Amino acid sequence: MMPDVHRTAFNVAIRAHLAGYKPYLNIECQMRDADGQLVWVLIRGVVSEDAYGVRRLAGSLSDINLRKSAEQDLAHATFHDPLTGLPNRQRMNQLLLQALQRQGKPGARHASVLFVDLDRFKLINESLGHQSGDKVLVESAKRIARCLRPGDHLCRFGGDEFVVLLDDLAQDGDAEIVARRIMQELHVPMLVGEHRLVITASIGVAPLKGNGMEQDALREADLALYRAKAYGKSQLALYSETLQEEVHHRLTLENALSEALARDQFELYYQPIVKVEDGSSKVIGVEALLRWWQDGTMISPDEFIPVLEESGQIVEVGEWVLREACRQVKAWHDSGLPGLRCSVNLSSRQLHEGGFAGRVAAVLQETGFPPGSLVLEITESLLMQDVPDTLATLRELESLGIRIALDDFGTGFSSLGYLHRYPLHIIKVDKSFITRAPDDERLGAISRAIIGLGRGLRMDVIAEGIETPEQMRFLHDEGCHYIQGYWFSRPLCAEQIRPVLVSLSNLDETA
Ligand code: C2E
Ligand code: CA
Ligand code: CA
Repeated sequence: MMPDVHRTAFNVAIRAHLAGYKPYLNIECQMRDADGQLVWVLIRGVVSEDAYGVRRLAGSLSDINLRKSAEQDLAHATFHDPLTGLPNRQRMNQLLLQALQRQGKPGARHASVLFVDLDRFKLINESLGHQSGDKVLVESAKRIARCLRPGDHLCRFGGDEFVVLLDDLAQDGDAEIVARRIMQELHVPMLVGEHRLVITASIGVAPLKGNGMEQDALREADLALYRAKAYGKSQLALYSETLQEEVHHRLTLENALSEALARDQFELYYQPIVKVEDGSSKVIGVEALLRWWQDGTMISPDEFIPVLEESGQIVEVGEWVLREACRQVKAWHDSGLPGLRCSVNLSSRQLHEGGFAGRVAAVLQETGFPPGSLVLEITESLLMQDVPDTLATLRELESLGIRIALDDFGTGFSSLGYLHRYPLHIIKVDKSFITRAPDDERLGAISRAIIGLGRGLRMDVIAEGIETPEQMRFLHDEGCHYIQGYWFSRPLCAEQIRPVLVSLSNLDETA
């Protein structure tokens, strides 16, 4: 007995052979054995017809069940991920293609692609071992699957990336609902061995469009994922054309920045920091501020520093800033402006890079810059990352004679604990505070408290962003003596700032 499809195929093969299209019969089909089980057989032979029209098949019938099941296993393996048993990337491509074909037809329901990426999975793998990592992946796959309906498809795309195809949505917005459900489901603590892990995921969502290619939807969901990751962990981002432009802009920026150092497109501007006391003003130092000239246009650091930080290039660029600032200020020391302090902004990436203090020491030696005149500005967010080596690195820098300034104070958590725990010598009060202090009573009180606090801790307090006589008066009344802002000078290039420094140092250049 043969199942109907196989019987039909068998008859067609016999007819083809009898009609002379095929010299012999050679067909694989399924038959039932004595127990009624379906088995695969290979039928080979030659059919002859005798004078009475009776057909006889001379040949062989072999059991190919084993080979067939091996083939099926192989086909399964080609399209499935061995760890989770989910369809893999190849299979997803096929599924997407089929879904796209359905999308092209009139009256089709909406379909969307979700790109799911576990946050910090690498960390789990590295700290708990690959076996634990595997368990997390298997459990994550189960949890994602629980959020889906029959007809949706989940595949393991590679590493810690999963792709979901939602194939039957009433509207595009429903994809976001499913994505949020997945994030919630993954967020429930997971028990792996004796560890209780909290997993977060970032998800990019893109609609599947009938006129697109299967790779378009994947690329767009991946782009949205890139955006989600850039927001930080545990985020969701939806693909849109503006997003496409934004990411494109970002990538172009990243590329251009990667060549900026070699092409000599960076320049340092300097802004004076002035001590005001007893009615006289005297410059005590400068803050080096990075500028990027791209094809003759100056790009603001607020735009490019975050890109440098994210790509990690800030480490190399930051070292250039340090070297260039030390070289320049040393040159000013040697040409009539001795003792001028040099403040350089640090990004957390630089400080967390092993051997940072050693590299600073090397730059100081190379440029001959006195450590006692160097100030490194860090932000509270850097201290909040709570990397254990931070304290050790800051102490090492302090022991070299370098001073540390806490920048933008008042904009973060402004935790007073940090002021005690870390070796900090200077507080820079953020411009958003003091600039509004003269006419905002609450901000005035806070500014007053910060200035008092700094004095109590024997730290210098620098007020940033000072532009008006009212602000100057307020600071005078509160006893804040260090001032930086447009009131004295905007940041200027080395050549233009020198005369400003000279006039602010009460020196007569010709004397
Ligand atoms: P920041 O460290 O807080 O630097 C002070 C910013 O305030 C500078 O902006 C300066 O031009 C601006 N400023 C100074 N006085 C006034 C004023 O009176 N009014 C107003 N409205 N603004 C004033 P800039 O140069 O655009 O730099 C922005 C930020 O970029 C810096 O903020 C710093 O966080 C970062 N940055 C600049 N250079 C470097 C660098 O070499 N390395 C790193 N990691 N970050 C840098
Ligand atoms: Ca600064
Ligand atoms: Ca600042």
